[in-house]
Amino acid sequence: MSSFGIHTLDICKQQRKSRHLIRVGTCIILLKNIFIMANFYCEYCGTKSARVASLVSGYCPRHPNGPNKGKHKLFEGGEKTAYTCKYCGINNRNLSSLTSGYCPRHPSGPNKGRHAPAL
Ligand SMILES: [Zn+2]
Ligand SMILES: [Zn+2]
Repeated sequence: MSSFGIHTLDICKQQRKSRHLIRVGTCIILLKNIFIMANFYCEYCGTKSARVASLVSGYCPRHPNGPNKGKHKLFEGGEKTAYTCKYCGINNRNLSSLTSGYCPRHPSGPNKGRHAPAL
């Protein structure tokens, strides 16, 4: 996201806080876009990004082939209030903390890989 977008959103938020009407058309459009726009997460490490393109272009510290041996992978399950490991069923509200732990029921063997979120 460009710094311009963030800056504009901050202005919008400030205006809402002070209960001023937002009269600038572009501001409303930006707010709407940001509101509709979901966050995207990496399936391996839980890194959050507002854009898929920027997410999958970065190297992943928890890539299955080794730290930074590959890029982030888009988690296609979207944003959730809680994430469940598809191997062992453990729950975590935070995708990044879920994927930081080793899974006792990993297909490669107990604790041979990390928890992976179910879709
Ligand atoms: Zn990642
Ligand atoms: Zn697990």
